[in-house]
Amino acid sequence: MLRTHSRRIPFIATLGAVAAASLVLAGCSSTPEASPSSSSSPAVPVDAQMTPVLASVPNSPIPFVGSDAKTWLVYELSLINFTSGATKLDKVEVLNADTGAVLKELSGKAIARATQPFGSSSPTDEDIADEAGTGSGAAAKLSTLPPASGALVFLDVAIDVDATVPTRLSHRLSLTAEAAPPGSQELTEEVPAIDVSSSQVPIGQNPLRGDGYVSADSCCANRHRRAALSINNEVFLAQRFAVDWEQVDSSGRIFQGDPADVNSYEIYGKDAHAFANATVAAAVDEYPDQVPQTVEDVNLQNADGNHVVLDLGNGNYVLYAHLIPGSLAVKVGDQVNAGDVIGKVGNSGNSIAPHLHFHVMDSASPLASSGVPYELSAFTVTAQVAGDTADQRTAAFDKAEAKGTVLPTVPSASDGARQDAFPLDQLIISMQ
Ligand SMILES: [Zn+2]
Repeated sequence: MLRTHSRRIPFIATLGAVAAASLVLAGCSSTPEASPSSSSSPAVPVDAQMTPVLASVPNSPIPFVGSDAKTWLVYELSLINFTSGATKLDKVEVLNADTGAVLKELSGKAIARATQPFGSSSPTDEDIADEAGTGSGAAAKLSTLPPASGALVFLDVAIDVDATVPTRLSHRLSLTAEAAPPGSQELTEEVPAIDVSSSQVPIGQNPLRGDGYVSADSCCANRHRRAALSINNEVFLAQRFAVDWEQVDSSGRIFQGDPADVNSYEIYGKDAHAFANATVAAAVDEYPDQVPQTVEDVNLQNADGNHVVLDLGNGNYVLYAHLIPGSLAVKVGDQVNAGDVIGKVGNSGNSIAPHLHFHVMDSASPLASSGVPYELSAFTVTAQVAGDTADQRTAAFDKAEAKGTVLPTVPSASDGARQDAFPLDQLIISMQ
């Protein structure tokens, strides 16, 4: 089932042209002259409130059901500190704009964890571990916007499946702004409400078939989710919902034998299947497999290696990346049916070990697009990678992928058959 995706709201322009401005009111600012009005009632001045941080939501969230049976709203808040002083984020609240109910509240370490300054990578467990987030330590630093700077706040709101999904969201920022006048430095900003997308997510078939598949780097771990790129004068998060599908063998290993041989890896050569009836929008087959555990000569153009993009209709596209050279079973313009084999899982492009990078997006460009959530119609969760935090689970996965050791797993609350659900991060999944 395929419906239209959300409209894209442009990001606020970069800070290049933004002069650092203090919040001191200019003494000679001009006021526009009142224009003649045909109405008998006088014009009411708009209340003016200083907002040291300019906040916007570039992409309205599209609700989807996760493998944990919760409804998820996954999106970003873009923040620009337009002042000459540091501005600390004391609290970030997500509200149902219609009822005023607080859906999520971040403070201290949770803000540090969610906030990623423009141009930098995501903070790790270690980055925020040493302070409570209220002092001068790492967490407090991470939740403070330096003068004339910006950041993305990554918001993942999970709602009980029985609860009503809000149709509009608003955001409230509690700030301490150095550039504000003394006595007024602690302030609250109300960010204008946005609509939650009313789009239905694409629902399709499993891209792989068999047991022991690992949904590595899926939402809402950081590596794909936070891969913000400035392309074509816009900030894109094409990989917001990407999964790097890996596979363990019956002993729980991602590979056995020579780590430099692609054939040592359980997933290598497995068939990749069409998500839905579609038209082939791109089919690139010109790159060799990389030698596993090394990545050489990767750039923006060849990062996906041999890849296929399927046009699902209604503005949705799906990318299959890193396929084996010569394995593509389709060419541009072909019509494929759901489940058709389109190629084989390989190790071409920006790939450290054989895997299938799979994501849905809102244009045919794998990088200049916005990542769209999707659901798989039927799969079975059998376990999850062990670890208390997303970082720990990712580290356990990385070790097993690099060393060929057994991937440690534990039962998960999501174990069992799942229908019409998005595979969340680091689950072990059987796909039929
Ligand atoms: Zn990937």
